[in-house]
Amino acid sequence: MDRVIMIKYGELTTKKGNRKFFVNTLYSNIKNKLKNLNVNIHKDISRMYIEFNDQELEEVLGIINNIFGIHEYVVAYKIASDVENIKEKVLAIMKTLSFKTFKIETKRSDKRFPIPSLDFSRQLGGLILKNIDGIKVDVHNPDILLNVEIREYYTYIYTNEYCGLGGYPNGTLGKGMLMLSGGIDSPVSGYLTLKRGVRLDCIYFEAIPHTSIEARNKVIALTKKLAQYTDSINLHVVPFTEIQEAIYREIEEDYCITIMRRMMYRITERLAKKNKCTIIANGESIGQVASQTLTSMAVINEVTNMPVIRPVACLDKLEIIDIAKKIDTYDISILPFEDCCTVFVPKHPVINPRLDLCIEYEKRFDYASMIDKAINETNTLVITDEKDKTFEDVL
Ligand code: ATP
Ligand code: MG
Repeated sequence: MDRVIMIKYGELTTKKGNRKFFVNTLYSNIKNKLKNLNVNIHKDISRMYIEFNDQELEEVLGIINNIFGIHEYVVAYKIASDVENIKEKVLAIMKTLSFKTFKIETKRSDKRFPIPSLDFSRQLGGLILKNIDGIKVDVHNPDILLNVEIREYYTYIYTNEYCGLGGYPNGTLGKGMLMLSGGIDSPVSGYLTLKRGVRLDCIYFEAIPHTSIEARNKVIALTKKLAQYTDSINLHVVPFTEIQEAIYREIEEDYCITIMRRMMYRITERLAKKNKCTIIANGESIGQVASQTLTSMAVINEVTNMPVIRPVACLDKLEIIDIAKKIDTYDISILPFEDCCTVFVPKHPVINPRLDLCIEYEKRFDYASMIDKAINETNTLVITDEKDKTFEDVL
């Protein structure tokens, strides 16, 4: 094993005092995600190192690329910090590469190493020029930039730096409740919320028999996609049929969606508190539909004091779709099974609902006891990131 993955922490947090907590959380998240592979993981104050078996490199990188909190990493040769040793290895590495121009950059974080960085870069450059024909140094735009990082015991030699997913390590910023429909926007919102280090529970409202089991399975498949970025997600499936039927029986058609969403928010807040979530997240996007005008959002939001995070609020649909494709939820989201919001769409939903009218209309049925019942009958599924089941298996 002479190569390691070296993770650079970058700006893990803006608060200095939190850094240790962020690094330790990242460390245990990485350890957990790689638990089935043959790896050794170490950390110091500025780097994390993963030793791996060569034949498992691709698999390890596939997992690393899905872990939030990793901003930059390299795959480096690791050798003892000894002058002759380093020279020999650098030359051997350069001989395996094809290039016309190169540059050597040495970083000496261990000042006990006898040669200053610039001098050592020059010595290494000279050695390469002497031993490889037809090449030259280009300090501005080299084909190959070879980095030599000399640390206390070991030296790390690498060429390419890779970007990780960025964000904060999962679990460093508490937990939120994501309102997850089968659509395109809410899984993207879930991904973006997870990216900030927030763990998630998900809540899904279903109205069987108006919505199908396939629609629920679609939401399970989407939850599974999101679980890849954390470990497991509790998905709360709320039976919403009785409330939805009452709304369509008792309320003026144009206000049905507004009232329905107020009911969803009420239930979401209750289940969020019950499951120790401090925020609600959802896929609302300003102006997308009648219930997402600013007035609608204000009237709907009025039922809760809990902060509501809307990560895609200011994105265009096409921008949301781009992310959905990148995180592989798009193909699931566009499956044609109807959601409870799409089953009963009024012809002319109100665009500027009045709060006083909502409050008036809601007096027409005993929604409080229906909400209690829906919460009591909520079914919680634990969705893990296991790889053995594809979404076709759950559909
Ligand atoms: P998406 O927004 O996920 O693409 P959509 O556009 O069909 O689906 P909207 O009617 O725009 O959904 O609803 C806005 C948001 O409300 C959704 O993004 C989601 O967060 C939440 N929501 C809607 N329907 C449900 C549902 N059945 N269960 C849970 N949350 C829902
Ligand atoms: Mg939407």
